[in-house]
Amino acid sequence: MAITSFIPPQRTLMGPGPSDVNPRILEAMSRPTIGHLDPQFIVMMEELKELLQYGFQTNNTLTMPVSAPGSAGMETCFVNLIEPGDTVIVCQNGVFGGRMKENVERCGGKAVMVEDAWGDAIDANKLEAALKANPDTRIVAMVHAETSTGASSDVETLVKLAHTHDCLTIVDAVTSLGGSPLKVDEWGIDAIYSGSQKCLSCTPGLSPVSFSERAIERIKARTHRVQSWFLDLNLVMSYWGTGAKRAYHHTAPINALYALHESLVILQEEGLENSWSRHLHHHNALRDGLEAMGLEFVVGKADRLPQLNAVTIPEGVDDAAVRSKLLADYKLEIGAGLGVMAGKVWRIGLMGYASSRRNVLFCLNALEDVLSSMNAPIQRGVALAAAHKVLNHAPQECK
Ligand SMILES: *Cc1c(COP(=O)(O)O)cnc(C)c1O
Repeated sequence: MAITSFIPPQRTLMGPGPSDVNPRILEAMSRPTIGHLDPQFIVMMEELKELLQYGFQTNNTLTMPVSAPGSAGMETCFVNLIEPGDTVIVCQNGVFGGRMKENVERCGGKAVMVEDAWGDAIDANKLEAALKANPDTRIVAMVHAETSTGASSDVETLVKLAHTHDCLTIVDAVTSLGGSPLKVDEWGIDAIYSGSQKCLSCTPGLSPVSFSERAIERIKARTHRVQSWFLDLNLVMSYWGTGAKRAYHHTAPINALYALHESLVILQEEGLENSWSRHLHHHNALRDGLEAMGLEFVVGKADRLPQLNAVTIPEGVDDAAVRSKLLADYKLEIGAGLGVMAGKVWRIGLMGYASSRRNVLFCLNALEDVLSSMNAPIQRGVALAAAHKVLNHAPQECK
């Protein structure tokens, strides 16, 4: 039998990413492919850097998308900044901090772990104690928005602490960029990476990164060659740099970059602060609905991410059966638990284009219907009213 074209089903994506892609972005992706050194393409690349600077709230000239998913942005930060023998403090409060440790060790560094419970924010006091106990530390790495639990950490405070001890900082902002307040320059972040498929609602496969002058100095002063050829910023900059001469490094994912450009144009049109406040507003509505139903959040109220809502699965309820039924009956995807939280929580994303009034109400209704059909111990008939109460007010301002 001849294999025919793949036609994906229509879904509503309310998991931990990818999130629903704005149709404008898919349309942008289908525009004609041009050469990666075409003068018109280079104009687009320069705009893309400027749009990313806006999204990150930075003037860093070394701001660009890595041609691969968020994990590659992570590797770009680690392989360029860490040299063999470096001590690196890694703050871990979920899955993604664990990956940072892997990166440090594979770069020949020594990882000192500062661990917090899954669901908690990173504790600044623990970081301070670790910095005092390890005075040779050169870098502190942390996750701003821990997607495995839905916890947000106070990056501003943590970065300040690291600087007091003469350390550079690496921040994972894969889930925070565009969804909750993030200010690279004001907070003094030295190296940061994000992803295209979370709150930017773009297709997966690109990782915006940004490096401060201090980080660039550190990279220039390296005594060991960067272990990765593809991610070595000295080489990547021959293509993405501002110099008059652009040289071939790798073939840029042309159409994917059109998509990222469009997603950032959309963000700029809305306004970054408005996007943050929209995410918060819809989170508040979803939260009140879920809590009215009797579902409990993993993260305490003060540290919750608006874009990632992790709730405990009620006792006796079959995790996989609920998610399958949501997919079958409602074409709705929510996320399963990750790592130690597998089977224990659901992760409901309200990211980017998917953070809408429609999706809040759609998800609450679907979840209530599916859970009721399985005789789950939930409160019925109250979730939508609770959400409406929030939705009927104007969104709070976010700064
Ligand atoms: C999704 C995610 C990543 C990894 O991004 P990929 O695009 O899947 O490689 C890293 N860190 C966090 C916090 C994430 O949520």
